[in-house]
Amino acid sequence: MAKIGINIATGSLQQPEIIVGIDLGTTNSLVAIIHPDTKQPTALKEFDGSSIVPSIVHFDAFGNAEVGAQAKPYLESDPQNTIFSAKRLMGKSYKDIREHQDFFAYKIIDDNRDSLVKVQVGNQFYSPIDLSSFILSELKKRAEHILKTPVTKAVITVPAYFNDTQRQATRDAGKLAGLDVLRIINEPTAASLAYGLGMNPTEDKTIAVYDLGGGTFDISILKISNGIFEVLSTNGDTYLGGDDLDRAIIEYWMKQWSLDNLDQHTQLKQELRLAAEKAKIALSTQSIFESEFAGEKISITKEVFETLIQPIVQKTIQCCEKAMQDAGLTVAVIDTVLMVGGSTRVPFVKSTVSEFFKQVVNDSVNPDEVVALGAAVQADILAGNNQNMLLLDITPLSLGIETMGGLMDVLLPRNSKIPTQAGRQYTTQKDAQSGINIAIYQGERDLVKDNRKLGAFTLTGIPAMPAGLPKVEVTFLINADGILQVKAKELRSGVAQTIEIKPQYGLTDEEVEQRLLESITHAKEDIQKRALVEASTEAEQMLDVTEKFITKNSALLSPDELKQTALAMQALQLAITMEDKNLIQTKTEELNDISRPFAERVMDQAISSALKGKGIDDKDL
Ligand code: AMP
Repeated sequence: MAKIGINIATGSLQQPEIIVGIDLGTTNSLVAIIHPDTKQPTALKEFDGSSIVPSIVHFDAFGNAEVGAQAKPYLESDPQNTIFSAKRLMGKSYKDIREHQDFFAYKIIDDNRDSLVKVQVGNQFYSPIDLSSFILSELKKRAEHILKTPVTKAVITVPAYFNDTQRQATRDAGKLAGLDVLRIINEPTAASLAYGLGMNPTEDKTIAVYDLGGGTFDISILKISNGIFEVLSTNGDTYLGGDDLDRAIIEYWMKQWSLDNLDQHTQLKQELRLAAEKAKIALSTQSIFESEFAGEKISITKEVFETLIQPIVQKTIQCCEKAMQDAGLTVAVIDTVLMVGGSTRVPFVKSTVSEFFKQVVNDSVNPDEVVALGAAVQADILAGNNQNMLLLDITPLSLGIETMGGLMDVLLPRNSKIPTQAGRQYTTQKDAQSGINIAIYQGERDLVKDNRKLGAFTLTGIPAMPAGLPKVEVTFLINADGILQVKAKELRSGVAQTIEIKPQYGLTDEEVEQRLLESITHAKEDIQKRALVEASTEAEQMLDVTEKFITKNSALLSPDELKQTALAMQALQLAITMEDKNLIQTKTEELNDISRPFAERVMDQAISSALKGKGIDDKDL
């Protein structure tokens, strides 16, 4: 019998756990889920039908935060304490945003250092992570209110161009808001999922996602193949969007009335901005907008509007051209163009983009909701409700095996997309070596001792062969569930062995971050250590080969030559003990210079004996 849970706080019946999809946008944010009855992705709506929460945080005199629609009016009336566009600051230092400082009406701390930015409100300091966490908390609260069940797990979207710091910052904001962020996914990937693209594992498609929001523009070219989304290129303008279209209308009206500056008239300015946005939205469905403003009749036709915005739309097309160039593709290979963001509702935007890509664009899913809907699709896959789908993820740290001298040999670099596979061939060090140890590590450092050991096994039963002859192929395969399978196979004999490891979940986000930090801090030291280990390994091999050669061919060498070789070997051995990389390299070269002429001489003798018809005995060489 199924168990029924009751939420003690609300007294309502507890539903099975829901993982929500969140579009944490620059201007607006929203939450979506897969509807339990219709099984369709659905944006969560309040009673008034609104699904969108403006990404705005206002702090009152006591430092209490208000988020969303309630905070919006303060943009004009209390700009210093009203934070918008916090997403633009995620993972950025003051230096990164210095040239756009005028854009932000609130105070960004100018410490002129490389550390991450902070915003000052009153005597409080907030990081962009704190600010985003306020928005996420509000979204969580709304979702819980609408769904009448606790919401603790989420998938959050980020722009495809977000780097690791920005992705990590988004994850941290989720954590601060009490959300377990199961996955961060790219906005264009989410949009594709909302359109049902990539759901068929045999599908192979190249798509363009054109995303024109309130304040930003992104174009992404994606390749979907076998359920894996690969971002081929991205381009855009982080300060171009619907606000610029509004501004074009404001400037047009101001010119008509010969008004120069409304800066002193906060209230009027705000009203004009709202009127311009209203006009723009109206012109998406009608050919003229007429209204009144400050006792004057105002109007604008669709034709005039399109002439005004032509240069802005053209800028987005230039970005599309660049993205296509970077992807190395022509528009003919683009299977679908997806329209994302509220500003793609403007018919002129649609027609211009259609013209550029030489096809009718796809705008059937609500462009404001499409990213959140796709995040909900991904959340549903993670909840295990869509078993046929592949999980999309990347490896957080590099994976590799230990090679000679304790060095880390990376087979799968960090950020490899999964599922994935990589292989490399190794060989034995000693004659008749019958086993080879495979130790698997995770991490970014050059020496395995500084990384994390995930497991080890020994490939046994290699038939006796001289050192260097066996071909041991080690293959790493990470399946869609993030399970790593390591296989070692000796190709000449076919002997094979396999183990399975679950690497992804072994480390907390903090540990991953810590390890990445360590790899950066120790990078120089690691390079030096690696160089020393490589030099020592090469030297030891040289000593080994020379030793064998001398034993076999002592009769062909003069006492003086034997003495010189012994001295050079001793010097090299000493250099290895001293752990002096440069000395090791010099002494290796010296030994090589001494022994090379003997080796050539022995080889020549062997060849000439062979030419005389004598068989070559292994012992002669
Ligand atoms: P987003 O950032 O995706 O939420 O997009 C918000 C932008 O879309 C704002 O600039 C809105 O003014 C704009 N927008 C919303 N609806 C329409 C519409 N029907 N026509 C034109 N622009 C719109």
